[in-house]
Amino acid sequence: MNLPETGRSVEELLAEVARLKEHDLPVRGGQVTAYVYDTGRAAVHDAAARVYLEMLEVNSLDPTAFPSIVEMERQVVGAVADQLGGGHGIFTSGGTESIMLAVKAARDLMGRARPNLVLPVTAHPAFHKAAHYLGVEVRPVPVDLETFRAAAGGLPIDEDTVLVVASAPSYPQGVVDPVEEIAAAAAAAGVPCHVDACVGGWLLPWLREAGAKVPAFDLSVPGVTSISCDLHKYGYAPKGASVVLFKDPAMRRKAYFASAAWPGYTVINTTVQSSRSAGPLGGAWATLQALGRDGYLELGRTTWEAVRRLRSGISEISGLRVLGEPESALVAFTGDDVFTLADEARARGWFLQPQLSFAGIPANLHITVTGVTLAGVEAMLEVIAESAAAARRRGPAVLPEGLVELVAGLDLEALDDAAFAELAAAVGVDLRPGAGQPELAVVNAILDALPVAHREAVLVRFLSLIYA
Ligand SMILES: *Cc1c(COP(=O)(O)O)cnc(C)c1O
Repeated sequence: MNLPETGRSVEELLAEVARLKEHDLPVRGGQVTAYVYDTGRAAVHDAAARVYLEMLEVNSLDPTAFPSIVEMERQVVGAVADQLGGGHGIFTSGGTESIMLAVKAARDLMGRARPNLVLPVTAHPAFHKAAHYLGVEVRPVPVDLETFRAAAGGLPIDEDTVLVVASAPSYPQGVVDPVEEIAAAAAAAGVPCHVDACVGGWLLPWLREAGAKVPAFDLSVPGVTSISCDLHKYGYAPKGASVVLFKDPAMRRKAYFASAAWPGYTVINTTVQSSRSAGPLGGAWATLQALGRDGYLELGRTTWEAVRRLRSGISEISGLRVLGEPESALVAFTGDDVFTLADEARARGWFLQPQLSFAGIPANLHITVTGVTLAGVEAMLEVIAESAAAARRRGPAVLPEGLVELVAGLDLEALDDAAFAELAAAVGVDLRPGAGQPELAVVNAILDALPVAHREAVLVRFLSLIYA
């Protein structure tokens, strides 16, 4: 029985949570270079947590019932708009939801029978998800394999295109697409253009002030019609915080949803979610207020210094190479066997994020540099150098002969979870509870060798197994 017969005390619950979190990656300290964003200032995160709790039970479902959320959202969206060229915004739960709303607004504004989306191959999968959910087809745009920026010439725009996308920056290599050229091409065709600044929107302006060369990318660029900016990334707010801005209020209305088609309460939604906690809004508001302009500027300065140190340091390690010239705080590097390197680093207490090879871009490791990186950047470089040497000694993950062909030829739909678990166990991956951290180099090497559709099918099976 998962539900206790009688209620338990809070002390008991907190003790159990501590036990549950025992094997989690740490969310503070800078040794996890993905997923988490640490300012290094406990007082800021504490302010966010307290205001989050204060707003926890307020329901954003009905803004007329809780005027506090309207005022808070105005302030948060207003701060983002001030920074990113104006516009009319919506506070959402994250980048994925901001992108979902941008694609929905464009689809509904353009009203094409067979809508398509023009998307650089380096753009975030949230666009593929939005396209999938919203019945929009994706038209890929290649990137230059030296700079990793999207090609602005010859975009596959046609009469059914409802949206063209550029990233500022794209996540994989942290480079900014040529936003001015892409937006101009979209405008010339009469098509909206979305800038995905989910990771960069609340970072690039501060890096620019710290001396980074950041090209124009925001709503002030002619032709840009919407932009997304996640506050739960470089805004350092607790998760569940993003903003999507539209140049034109009429386009923002296309993102909204209302329904009176039932006998219950009238539904008016600015977002995909309906009932939702105002906690994340409170957390984002508090983080912005607690850091202020000064705080973000200082974080931008230390972040940029850490990026430059990391880039030059990695380039000096034999066998490793930084991909492109990121003008953001995302650094990707490649080498002979990055998946084994990642496992070696993890054994030393550092998480580096593996990225599979794709569209001519080699497999690599990704580092999200944050406010706390600088303090530990020399230690990080040492671990990368040691891990690279250890990976070289160990050699790449050896896959059983014929395994990739076997997986590629499998009808994964026909396997049940137990059969898939056996297959995973055969390559040394045990996902049963308590089995501990699997060596991921093998998994990544297999995924890397598979075509994209098979990668996706295998990943879904993994998820199903993890939650079995
Ligand atoms: C993180 C990210 C997203 C998606 O954001 P979520 O908050 O994880 O939903 C979209 N685009 C880019 C460039 C990102 O870095």
